[in-house]
Amino acid sequence: MPELPEVETIKSGLVQTVKDKKIIKVEIRLSKIIKGTSVESFIDRVTGATIKNIERRAKNLIITLSNNFGMVIHLKLTGQLIYSKPNTLKDKHTHVIFIFEDKSELHYNDLRRFGYIMLVETDQLGQVKELADLGPEPLNENFTLNYFKDLLKKKKRGKIKPILMDQKFIAGIGNLYADEILFYAKIHPLRDVSTLSENEISRIYDGIKEILPAAIKHRGSSVDNYVDVDGKKGGYVPFIKVYGREGKPCPKCKTPIERIKIGQRSAHFCPKCQIIV
Ligand SMILES: [Zn+2]
Repeated sequence: MPELPEVETIKSGLVQTVKDKKIIKVEIRLSKIIKGTSVESFIDRVTGATIKNIERRAKNLIITLSNNFGMVIHLKLTGQLIYSKPNTLKDKHTHVIFIFEDKSELHYNDLRRFGYIMLVETDQLGQVKELADLGPEPLNENFTLNYFKDLLKKKKRGKIKPILMDQKFIAGIGNLYADEILFYAKIHPLRDVSTLSENEISRIYDGIKEILPAAIKHRGSSVDNYVDVDGKKGGYVPFIKVYGREGKPCPKCKTPIERIKIGQRSAHFCPKCQIIV
């Protein structure tokens, strides 16, 4: 699933390619992708509007239009937004096509079809449940070490990995980057937050502030079908230390990386570098 670095990369790509472009036509090939309104009224409201701004909040993209409407897009597992030249061939996974005045196109593709495009009135964006319930953005300046400590104190108990992935706790971190942050911090994914020392909390904080920007710099991780708006893969995979590397040697101590289940999700870690206390 695209996480903060991937969605941020897509956001930057959209700013460069579709900002200030006027949408002259919308084709919807799979109606379940559209949320918040009917397909007819979506087409009616979006056609003729100009894209004013593109923002990211957690793993959501927010595209503001010139007519007081906005689109909240969540790519979920396999959603892609691809900027295309006029009349580019569409594949069977292209579900929504925006055509601009200059005849270029933006394609929403989604193999597993869990993603969505939700139309919302701009002044209602703050009330949208998908956005209102989100925790703080970890790369914002006001996300300081003290702020993170206070946030963790409120949690009292619980395993650190699912807490890092809880979008109401911190926005944008998913399975891949939670594994990488915990490896960086030398913390076992099952550690209970109530047992973390000040020093360990600092290391997790440093991991967040180190790994997410590094992944953005390399335009995200293409471990699944993630690509940027130009259809190019992200370059962060060679820097991944533990995620998806079960049985392969730890980059620090050569111990084979282990995989365990936490709830429905896998966690990858080094049993020697990340000791549970
Ligand atoms: Zn190790």
